[in-house]
Amino acid sequence: MAVNLAGDRLPCGHRVDQLWACLGSGAPDEHVRACEYCQAALAMIRPLRTATSELAAQPVRVPADLPRRVMAVIGPRIPPAPRIAVPVAAPDRLAISVRAAAMVLRAAGDSVEGVRARSCRLTPAAVGPNASAGLKLTISVRYGLPALSAARAVRRAVRAAARAQLGLTLGPIDIEVVDIHAA
Ligand SMILES: [Zn+2]
Repeated sequence: MAVNLAGDRLPCGHRVDQLWACLGSGAPDEHVRACEYCQAALAMIRPLRTATSELAAQPVRVPADLPRRVMAVIGPRIPPAPRIAVPVAAPDRLAISVRAAAMVLRAAGDSVEGVRARSCRLTPAAVGPNASAGLKLTISVRYGLPALSAARAVRRAVRAAARAQLGLTLGPIDIEVVDIHAA
């Protein structure tokens, strides 16, 4: 006898998903054992249950080149890290990532006696290779050290490092004293 598995329930009232679950537990109840509809439905879904169990039992092998294939798909969609063009003689080109440049400049600010550099954010010039990047630096100043002279020293150190290490002439340097620390 063929039963319609597409319907929610068999003519006897049993649901197909109950039968499916009963195949998994291997314990059909009294009704299922005696019911012709249930037995017919079981005969139809049993091969499917066997096939899916076999599939599920198979170990999943991750292809060795999966990371490369994933990156090949998503790589072009990741925007490149912001960079600053460093002025060099044409036709050469040199660019440094904003993050790397900020690390160099933060370290320069940190080297000033009595100053601890906190955050450092480089703002790449909007247009043109010769436009200069600006810098926002937050610092902590040692207690007792005049903030104005500390800021002046930090500006000098940062400008010097930008020129010497990055070949960059910085635009405006905003310094914010966000903390005071003990000696
Ligand atoms: Zn039944």
